[in-house]
Amino acid sequence: MAQQTITLIGAGLVGALLAQQLAQRGFAVEVFEKRPDPRLAGFLGGRSINLALAERGLQALRTAGLADDVLQRAVMMRGRMVHDRDGNSALQRYGVDDSEVIWSVSRGALNMLLLDTAEAAGVTFHFGQSLVGADFDGGSIRLADTSGVERELPADMLIGADGAGSAVRTAMNAHTSLGERIASLGHGYKELEIPPASELPAAVLQLSGGRDQFALEPHALHIWPRGRYMCIALPNTEGSFTVTLFLPAQGDAPSFATLPDAETAAAFFSEQFPGLLSLIPKFTEDFDQNPVGTLSTLYLDRWHLDGRALLLGDAAHAIVPFHGQGMNCGFEDTVVLTRLLAEAPQDPAGVFAEFQRVRQPNADAIATMALENYIEMRDSVADPHYLAKRELGALLAARIPGHYMARYRLVTFTHVPYAYALERGRAQDALLEQLLRDTPRVADIDLDAAARLFQSSLPPLPVLRHG
Ligand SMILES: Cc1cc2nc3c(=O)[nH]c(=O)nc-3n(C[C@H](O)[C@H](O)[C@H](O)COP(=O)(O)OP(=O)(O)OC[C@H]3O[C@@H](n4cnc5c(N)ncnc54)[C@H](O)[C@@H]3O)c2cc1C
Repeated sequence: MAQQTITLIGAGLVGALLAQQLAQRGFAVEVFEKRPDPRLAGFLGGRSINLALAERGLQALRTAGLADDVLQRAVMMRGRMVHDRDGNSALQRYGVDDSEVIWSVSRGALNMLLLDTAEAAGVTFHFGQSLVGADFDGGSIRLADTSGVERELPADMLIGADGAGSAVRTAMNAHTSLGERIASLGHGYKELEIPPASELPAAVLQLSGGRDQFALEPHALHIWPRGRYMCIALPNTEGSFTVTLFLPAQGDAPSFATLPDAETAAAFFSEQFPGLLSLIPKFTEDFDQNPVGTLSTLYLDRWHLDGRALLLGDAAHAIVPFHGQGMNCGFEDTVVLTRLLAEAPQDPAGVFAEFQRVRQPNADAIATMALENYIEMRDSVADPHYLAKRELGALLAARIPGHYMARYRLVTFTHVPYAYALERGRAQDALLEQLLRDTPRVADIDLDAAARLFQSSLPPLPVLRHG
């Protein structure tokens, strides 16, 4: 068994899961985390309270033996519940049936479970320790404790899982340019909360279509798409929903700049998201207190300094959240890296280079698809042409499952590389567009001819693994 000490920075979702897997493979792992231990101090996440877990993330959790534990504390989401301006709603299923669903999980609870499991596997965590610098030539790092007192420690192999604002990345960049590019989306987000149904007046609940302790249908990801902006809501196990408003940061109304306070924002909500405001009794506090988060995509030319330092997860490839894949992608990273390191523990430089070779095209692909999905979620889900394409796609998926699978399903319910999903999705989309250009009404399309077009134009899909 390998016995090499790895210094890991960041005990967030990706860092904690990676640490557990490395320890299982016999590596000695020391993890330094800026925040206090959330199991003692309470979780200070703050950015998104819940996240959508999909097949790729689940597969990584299976590898770590944690999938069942996580699913027990998750809420199943079958599709998008699209709420229009008139207050009507309709479910658009993500997959073909309940074998193709995503799961809403609590970021805090998941992180704490991962910490417990990693500790049980032999990982040592040091909380309240911020990386503030690294000397890659001397093989050491500098850490600051919560009172700012600094110390130096040896670290021959440094792994940065310290998120989008990675300090490891800053230190690496100061040593050798990583070719960093950060593309801001220009849109921000703010989180609000719908409490459990028991905390809301009966009259409000009568209109909202909720069930049991939930004020809205629990088994869906709710979307209020409004063109340039949108609200979404994901369920939490105890009956609440985390609502996120996505809006341009600056510019003409509506933008966060034109909604400076809760009063203006409440008027905007009443007009644009009928019924939603009455489900958020603490709207004023939430709006005034919760910060506007920024959204960017991070691109790097280099993810590693030979065998001395490597970035993964958001530290290497932060993306916008609209495909719900940032954590899922980071979890996939952990499985690949653990396997490569276990195969060649004596050759970290080779392993890190191979890791980047394998993962970077996929990280780039999901970054592109996440940006495209913002348009789809905030705009297209309510667009008749988009709905016609969806309908035709669903008919073809049933008729020729070996030749057509919607890109969303390839990303969300299979393990095919993201880069393949992007490429295949583009090719399929071009054929759907071609068919609908010739015959705009789906009911008028000759499905046998359409199936033949797909079969003659595209190679069969690879054998797809679910779950
Ligand atoms: C609004 C929003 C919604 C999202 N929704 C989804 C979703 O539905 N599904 C999904 O898959 N993904 C989602 N994501 C993306 C997901 O949150 C990230 O991809 C994921 O958290 C990345 O994990 P990470 O461990 O790489 O980074 P983080 O979760 O950011 O963890 C980094 C850790 O490093 C620590 N750290 C930072 N700096 C230092 C330092 N100097 N020294 C020591 N420690 C440090 C931090 O305290 C933190 O614990 C969403 C993101 C946002 C912003």
